[in-house]
Formats: sequence, structure tokens, C-alpha cells
Amino acid sequence: MEESTVKIIIQNSAYLLASILFIRGLKGLTHPRTAVRGNLMGAVAMLIAIVATLWGGGIMSWTWIFAGLIVGTAAGAYLAITVEMTGMPQMVGLFNGFGGAASFLVAGGELIMSINRTHAAQDVAVSATQAAGHGAGLQFMIAVALSGVIGSVTLFGSVVAAGKLKEMTFTFRGKKYWMSNALFLPGRHFINGGLFVLTVILCVLIVKNPDTVVWYAILVVVAGALGILITIPIGGADMPVVIALLNSYSGLAACATGFVINNNVLIIAGSLVGASGLILTKIMCKAMNRSLANVMFARLGPSADGPSADEIYEGKIKSTSAEEVAMLFDGAQRVVIVPGYGMAVSQAQHAVRDLANLLESRGINVDFAIHPVAGRMPGHMNVLLAEADIPYDKLREMDDINPELAQVDVALVLGANDVVNPVARTDPSSPIAGMPIIDVDKCRTVVVIKRSLSPGFAGIPNPLFAMDHTLMFFSDAKKAFVELVAAVKES
Ligand code: NAP
Repeated sequence: MEESTVKIIIQNSAYLLASILFIRGLKGLTHPRTAVRGNLMGAVAMLIAIVATLWGGGIMSWTWIFAGLIVGTAAGAYLAITVEMTGMPQMVGLFNGFGGAASFLVAGGELIMSINRTHAAQDVAVSATQAAGHGAGLQFMIAVALSGVIGSVTLFGSVVAAGKLKEMTFTFRGKKYWMSNALFLPGRHFINGGLFVLTVILCVLIVKNPDTVVWYAILVVVAGALGILITIPIGGADMPVVIALLNSYSGLAACATGFVINNNVLIIAGSLVGASGLILTKIMCKAMNRSLANVMFARLGPSADGPSADEIYEGKIKSTSAEEVAMLFDGAQRVVIVPGYGMAVSQAQHAVRDLANLLESRGINVDFAIHPVAGRMPGHMNVLLAEADIPYDKLREMDDINPELAQVDVALVLGANDVVNPVARTDPSSPIAGMPIIDVDKCRTVVVIKRSLSPGFAGIPNPLFAMDHTLMFFSDAKKAFVELVAAVKES
């Protein structure tokens, strides 16, 4: 057997091993108990894939490889070390975007190299058959076009999504706009439709003209504009779906680039990211009771018809203190803690664990009710509570705990707002209409811990705060729980 054939067999065997580890790693990530091992498997698989690719040859310049490694590692490590826990979703969004950028840049680079090779072959006046062999094939050109479109949509869409999650503002014609709001351009469906048709035409032009890079450059710009314009109108509570979808796009772009550079493990890993991102998108849509088409194209935002915050809250808000809440625990047998974004902001998870342990030591059953979109990224609450060593069996999923809430004596709503807002059930015109919520309003007493009556991410008032059996504990989440621990110990 020829040496090159042996090399290909060894390289593809390594790719197969890496792919199996990727799949096993993904399976591990489906449960908190196996998630760390799953993550490690994915990292080992990536290492095997990189080493096998570099070992396989075809490296044009080790200097560039090492330069890229050093710059990428330094930038990644800096971002990972300095990012605040509440900034993780934006960072994940940006990483998706970087994946898209890498895909369209590699595909563009390969297109330029393919054009140069064809010209070089023609310059040395090789035979027509040989020259054709140097030219770009149909599969190659289609994959290049797809990498360009999907990669560019992913990069620019992700930058807008990250800006929305960071709640950035911008000024247009003297007026200040919040990026997190849904921003509607007049005639946007018409503009987006036009841009989509243009990208299809540009893809055809790229495939038909493999000897120029001009159409590819225009495609990247047009697809980038499409990515921005599709993401800008999506706002409020639909952001998690967009991040999951862009994650899927980044995988599809990588998969297309795998076909461009003929790399099997990139095709497989890209497909896995694409498929898992789509599955996550579906789960998120279900958690928010929206179809994907509705998320992408519907006009959402606080409805003008709904009652104002003043109308809902005026004269009905009852404030409480740590001492009063400690007295509620005296007669309680079941307590449910519902964490939300505010717990992440104040990093209250350790104080939460201390209170839960204290109550359990006094014979009270404490559970945590976890909404799939609580916080600002999928699994946000699970990660924080696992960090504080709260046992996994105490974390109850929304569908699992909702039927039991009528038997709960005290619900502690900790920095959560939209995920416990009953208007999702009662007001069809609300931006969160139909979103399944944690039905804390069915508990015997509800204590809401937050700093003010400000709305949550969806920007709407919450009638739960004004209900007869609700007490508002206005405080930072961590401070409130530290005070509660002290008050329970004293009682
Ligand atoms: P939320 O509706 O955004 O409400 C969070 C509440 O936390 C706010 O009302 C805020 O009130 C309070 N808060 C902030 N800092 C606090 C602190 N230091 N101490 C105490 N309270 C604090 O949060 P949620 O109920 O978790 O719902 C999540 C929302 O985000 C949903 O609309 C969801 O669709 C959206 N979203 C989710 C994801 C995801 O993947 N999980 C991603 C993006 C968006 P005060 O200012 O009055 O304290």
C-alpha cells in the first residue's frame, strides 16, 4: 500500500474517533451529572481532530498556524477570564459569530487559491484536461457560496444579537433607541425578501464564474446586511431562540466549509452543531410557546392596549422584610425557590444554598423550580445552582413542579419576573402570551425578592406583584438571602 494511502487511512480513523467522542460528549452534556465529562470528551475530540489535520500535511505556513493559535488563545482566554457571569450569553453569541466569520474567510481564501491554481496551470500551458483538473468543481463552488451566505448571516446576526443582549443603545436622527427592543424598519419584509433573492442570484453567479472572487465579496456584504436586518426586529423575550438558531447556523457554515476544504471531521462536527442548535431552537420555541416563523417575522413588543404599571400596582403592593418572611417559614412544610435573572446579577446562589440547607435542617422541604428560559441563556439557573453545590434532584423542571405548586406554603421568587408573570396565561395581546410560566400565583404565599417594581426582559408589568397573597421584599437578591439566613437563625 502506498504511503499516502496509509496516511489517509490513519487520518480518517482519527477523524472517526474524534466524531465518536463528539457525539458521546454531546450525550454527556444532556445531564448535569455527566456534563463535565461530556465537555472534556468534546475538548479531547477537538484536539485529536486538530492534530490529525496538521499531521495530514498540506500546511502552507506553520508561522501562520502558530500566529493564529497564539492570537486566538490569548483573545479567548482574556474574554473567558474577564467576562461577567451575566455577560455569558453575549459572549456565546459572539463566539457563534466568530465561527461564521472563520467559515466564510476560509471559504474565500480557498476560492482565491483555487483561482490562482487555475491561472498557474493555464500559464504553464498544460493540456486542456489537466487545466480542467485544476479548476474548481461544482461541489466546491456550491460549498463556497453556502459558506459565504451562512457564515456572513451568522457573523452579522450574532453581533446584533450580542448588542441586544448587552442592552446597547444607538442614536438615529437624534433619537435614542434600545437595541434590546424590537426595532421595525418600514417595508422590512420587502427589503429582506429582496436581499434574500439577491443572495440566491449571487450564489448562482459564484457557481457559474469560478474564476473571480468579486461575486463572493458582494455576497458576503449582502448576506451580512440580511443577517443584521433579520435580527434587528426580533426583541424582548425571543432572544434565546435567536442565539440558539445562530449557533445552529455557525455549525452549518462550518459544515459547508468542511466540503470546501474536503475535511471530513469538519463536515461531521459542523453537522452536529447545526443539528443540536436546531433541536435547542425547537426546545426554546416550545418553552416560549412561539413557532420559529413567529419569532423571526412577527411584530412583538409591549402592547399599547394592556393596563399600565400604575393601574396594576397602585395601592396594592405590600412590602415585607426578612424578619416577616422568617416568620412565614415557622408554619411551612414546603418552600419553592424560583430563581431568575436577578439571582445571576447579584450572584446570590451561595446565599440561596445556605438558606435552603437551613430550612431543610428544620424539616422544611425545599425545591427549586427552574424555567427553561429563566436568566439570559439556556441552562443559566442550572449552572449557577450547580456551582453552589445544590443537589441536582432539588432542581425541578417547570412541567414537573407546576402541578404541585398549589400544595406549596411559601414560594420565594428570586430576581425572576417574566417567567412567573400570569399575563402569559390571561392576556392574549401580551408579548409573552402563551409562554408557559411557573405558576407561583397558585402557591399559598408568594414572596418576590427584587429591587423595585421594574419590569423584566419583556418590558411588561407583572400583576403577580399586586396579588393579595404576594409580599414584595425590595432588596438585592444576595443581600436579601443573607438577611433571611440571619433572621431564620434568630427566630
Ligand atoms: P426577567 O424577567 O428579566 O426579570 C429579572 C428581574 O430581576 C428584574 O425584574 C429585576 O428587577 C430583577 N433583578 C435584577 N437585578 C437584581 C438584583 N441584583 N437583585 C434582585 N433582583 C434583581 O428575568 P426572568 O424571569 O429570569 O426571565 C428571563 C427573561 O429573559 C425572559 O423574558 C426570557 O425570555 C429572556 N431571555 C432568556 C434567555 C435564556 O436563554 N434564558 C436569553 C435571553 C433572554 P429589579 O430591577 O427591580 O431588581
